[in-house]
Amino acid sequence: MKHLIRECFQGEGYVFATRAAEIARAHGHARPARLASNENPAGPSPEAVRRAVDALGCVNRYPDETNRGFADALRAYHGDYRFVASVGMDGIIETVIRTLINDGDEVVVSTPTYSFYGIAVRAQGGTPVSVARRADWSVDPETFIRACKGRKLAFLCSPNNPTGTVTPVEDIKAILDEIKGILFLDAAYIDFCDEDYRPLMKEYDNLIIGRTMSKAFSLAGLRIGYAFVPTWYEPYYMTAATPFTLNSVSQAAGEGALADPSHTIPIVRNVEVWRGRFAKESPYPVAPSGGNFVLVDVAPATAEEVVEQLAARGVIVRSCTSFPGLGDHYIRVSIGEDWENERFLEEISRL
Ligand code: PMP
Repeated sequence: MKHLIRECFQGEGYVFATRAAEIARAHGHARPARLASNENPAGPSPEAVRRAVDALGCVNRYPDETNRGFADALRAYHGDYRFVASVGMDGIIETVIRTLINDGDEVVVSTPTYSFYGIAVRAQGGTPVSVARRADWSVDPETFIRACKGRKLAFLCSPNNPTGTVTPVEDIKAILDEIKGILFLDAAYIDFCDEDYRPLMKEYDNLIIGRTMSKAFSLAGLRIGYAFVPTWYEPYYMTAATPFTLNSVSQAAGEGALADPSHTIPIVRNVEVWRGRFAKESPYPVAPSGGNFVLVDVAPATAEEVVEQLAARGVIVRSCTSFPGLGDHYIRVSIGEDWENERFLEEISRL
């Protein structure tokens, strides 16, 4: 029956960090250090949990299809912008592609980067076109602009997963000034750095900024993504979106988390401290990062070797070999609880 499945789904899909966890389990580590998925170990705001629990009592009803309360909370938090929501930022990415891409359209992706853009573009019948970053992982605006010529949509991630690289606002402006299509700026990790792209929404009508509550706000399990969109674009997004973009429990939790913004302050501070320690104390080079993770160059070893050895010692990190354009000698290490980060430093120093 396999021949019935579309070709784009017959190869490998999204890569989850399950193998390392299996190795750790096989070596008897019941509670390994989990540093592979850029999760936030701190847990969500109690206000988010309280509102989510309250909302559970009403799940016999469909949620508010306009996400009104959540959008109001976003406006109270960020200011007067237009927002759309979805099942994680992954849902936003998928819906945005659906609104723009026809069979055979090419979509620009600044690489190496998050793999789901390419997966979602192919699923829509489009073709991802990679534009390589420089050797230090920064984006060359001119090369990027050239690649965008004649194309409707481009993806750029900042801070970039998995390199951690932050693209300066001036470079994003230079790109937006020149391109005729839409730039999807993935700002999943923006809370962990000082850059602020939001004011660009007032200046450009070809910018979408994707955000998630999975990282700094620690709500990954509830799958809450949203995006800043130009006013003209919002109705098209809503037409293309799967009905009821966010479930009612997620809407309520998102509102609660946004009502308690100080919850993220120590979380972000802790990430900054550990990024510094990883850079200083790791025996392998660590790329400068604006996210809650770092990219470590483990050459001359391969990423797969290091991931297996660390997993056998109870430390789960992510091999980056599945990120196209990165090579086979990088691992990505999330910042976890203090004991997990300490364990990583201990074990990587012993390899
Ligand atoms: N963009 C990037 C760069 C990510 O790393 C992730 C999640 N790992 C996402 C988007 C998707 O986030 P969400 O959990 O909101 O679907």
